[in-house]
Amino acid sequence: MKRIGKLCACLSVLGAAAAMAATPDWEALGKRWWAHVQYLADDKWEGRDTGSAGYEMAAAYVTNKFKSAGLQPAGTDGYAQPVRFQVAQTDESESSIALTLETKTQQLKLGEDAFFNPHADGDATITAPAVFAGYGLSVPELKYDDFAGLDTKGKFVIYITGGPASMPTEIKAHYQSRDERLKALKKSGAIGTGSIPNPKAAEVPWSRTAGARLEPRMELSDLGVAGEPSLPISMVFNPAHAENLFAGSGHTFQEVLDAMNADKPLPRFPLAVTIRARVKVKTSETKSENIIGVLPGSDAKLSKEYVVVSAHLDHLGIGEPVNGDKIYNGAMDDASGIASLIEIARGIKESGAKPKRSILFLAVTGEEKGLLGSRYFAEHPTVDRKNIVADLNMDMFLPLFPLKYLEVQGLNESTLGEDVRAVCEAAGVQVQADKQPDHNRFIRSDQYSFIRKGVPALAFKFGWVPGTAEEKKFNDWYKERYHGPADDLSQPVDLAAAAQFNAILEKLALRVADEAQRPAWKSESFFKRFAQ
Ligand SMILES: [Zn+2]
Repeated sequence: MKRIGKLCACLSVLGAAAAMAATPDWEALGKRWWAHVQYLADDKWEGRDTGSAGYEMAAAYVTNKFKSAGLQPAGTDGYAQPVRFQVAQTDESESSIALTLETKTQQLKLGEDAFFNPHADGDATITAPAVFAGYGLSVPELKYDDFAGLDTKGKFVIYITGGPASMPTEIKAHYQSRDERLKALKKSGAIGTGSIPNPKAAEVPWSRTAGARLEPRMELSDLGVAGEPSLPISMVFNPAHAENLFAGSGHTFQEVLDAMNADKPLPRFPLAVTIRARVKVKTSETKSENIIGVLPGSDAKLSKEYVVVSAHLDHLGIGEPVNGDKIYNGAMDDASGIASLIEIARGIKESGAKPKRSILFLAVTGEEKGLLGSRYFAEHPTVDRKNIVADLNMDMFLPLFPLKYLEVQGLNESTLGEDVRAVCEAAGVQVQADKQPDHNRFIRSDQYSFIRKGVPALAFKFGWVPGTAEEKKFNDWYKERYHGPADDLSQPVDLAAAAQFNAILEKLALRVADEAQRPAWKSESFFKRFAQ
């Protein structure tokens, strides 16, 4: 483990004993945080896959740490809230995708050209024409509809992920969520779908996306919570091979990319190919659990309300080997967030703070399977849902360099934005809004399960200024380590900066817990509509 932080040097220059006493020993605090990451991301837990024995061991660790931080059990079975899952895995030996143009049929190579997103409803074989629907988005309040005037009934709808540059980030993100997409696709009469990942927003090479295709997919067994049922067939196409789909249509995929890069409306048109897709799915069931502890509030009335601080404990498990390593340790994703959860609970205990509202510490399962553990919790909260006032979610905040900027997703959506600004200002850290809206981060982690239930929420990343070494470090991390076996314990992490992040989150949680008014969505926020 190499460090980039140089905080000890700064401290020695300070000299004055008073200043020393006032400055926390970030380095030592960072080491305590890192010890949790080291435990949770150890090879022996085999990547903490939802439902695995390794996850169970990690959950036992979190339970113990919650106990020693003085948190009360707040699950349905002690600290645990059990969650049941349906598991689906594509059997590629009996699955295929073929494109037919006039009399010529081309078999696609699964994994190279395309793959299936399987779901537990099982097997399907469909032969149908296809249509290209641009971004495949339907946004009623902006009167934006990629399906308008397009004959999509009974067809495969092919779309590229993303949305027009002019569309507000959060709206674009919301309508790209699984449920909203499915609603629009079903309304269009599509019988199957194929997405082409936007190469401009690709965080990992195709090989890594495709490498994960045979990992077990999961859905919540509780159908009341599972969300919009899937379409019978859902495929993902490699953008580098996507021209095949456009052959004979009078259009090219390059034309689509050019329009996208020039921020022009995308062409939408019938494709000339007929797609024959056959998918065979192996299904099973598994169970896992969320781990939940509460620090009871001190105020007679406000203690009935809860500020949730959350992170996800699961990661991807064992997968396609990369450079001989098949364990997806998930050190940053999201052992780092769980370690912060533990350190924040411990920090509050040691500070003796007595927040007015209760603070609920939530370690969720199934995030990597589609935010499933948090979705289950948000549907079946172990405390009264109308009393959950906020969610502060920590997922892969990436302490790769000193903490000068904190990027906050959801910054301008609720009064929590003012809270995080105030706390960061006191810490000498500048707040940034989402700099990469194409990446949809506001809906891509567990905070979204709360947002959908009307709870104001924030999520966080270490911030940077474009054109700096920090930007490169941040982007390189995605390319080299995100959702790969290299997100392990042998990566450079700035421990002191991680501890400073924890201190900011701790202060933020306490501030929100102590405020007279509970947080509220801004009147102009798109997400206000979910408030109940
Ligand atoms: Zn992840």
